[in-house]
Amino acid sequence: MNERSENQSNFVIPPPKYSFERIENHVPIHLLHTQAYCERQIYLEHVEGIEAPPSAEMISGSEKHDALEEEHIEKAEIELSIGNAFVKSEKEGITLISREVFVLGSATYGRIDEIIIEPKRLIIVDDKPNAIPYFTNQVQVWGYCHTFKEMYQPEIPIFGALRHVDTGEITWMDQFQEEHALRVIDGVKRIQAIFSGESQGEPTSNARKCNSCRFRQSCKK
Ligand code: SF4
Repeated sequence: MNERSENQSNFVIPPPKYSFERIENHVPIHLLHTQAYCERQIYLEHVEGIEAPPSAEMISGSEKHDALEEEHIEKAEIELSIGNAFVKSEKEGITLISREVFVLGSATYGRIDEIIIEPKRLIIVDDKPNAIPYFTNQVQVWGYCHTFKEMYQPEIPIFGALRHVDTGEITWMDQFQEEHALRVIDGVKRIQAIFSGESQGEPTSNARKCNSCRFRQSCKK
């Protein structure tokens, strides 16, 4: 999927493209991953304010994302709004790709690594540093799909995908369905309950997760 064909163009979205500001009463979509992994991490970081150094994987992932974004901008030939990209893709039968796409829904916001607009489907891609399509990562992708759908209401089906950032291989892809939206809505509600102090977040029962947790020194589970 990262092979470039003649029928494919990179595009950039006119500014303002995204915002890094925290959006009041909204949940950052990447926290859906944490919520599916261990909710207590959200409580420790965002309510207790415990700071933990980023893992080597997080630092390396951020550097790779920056490199991919730079490469994308260098290759980009056109500037298009998302709405116009849908029209152009359908009319001309081409694939249009953009990166770092900011989305804002009724309760969620975030930045999608890559969107691939084909004439008959949209693929929302999240780049990950591993080849295993963990459920936690899938939930995060559903969060992007849900929020994109709320914002743009595309007429074509949406697919979520995970891609190994080192190899460019798609490791998982599935069509976004109502049941996925419900999982996102439930996860968002649970995160909001942690933010509001109603809940301290359910700790994981998987000791292996605790062994590699950035917060294990501060967690009194
Ligand atoms: S130590 Fe375990 S329970 Fe505590 S935050 Fe980390 S993963 Fe969750």
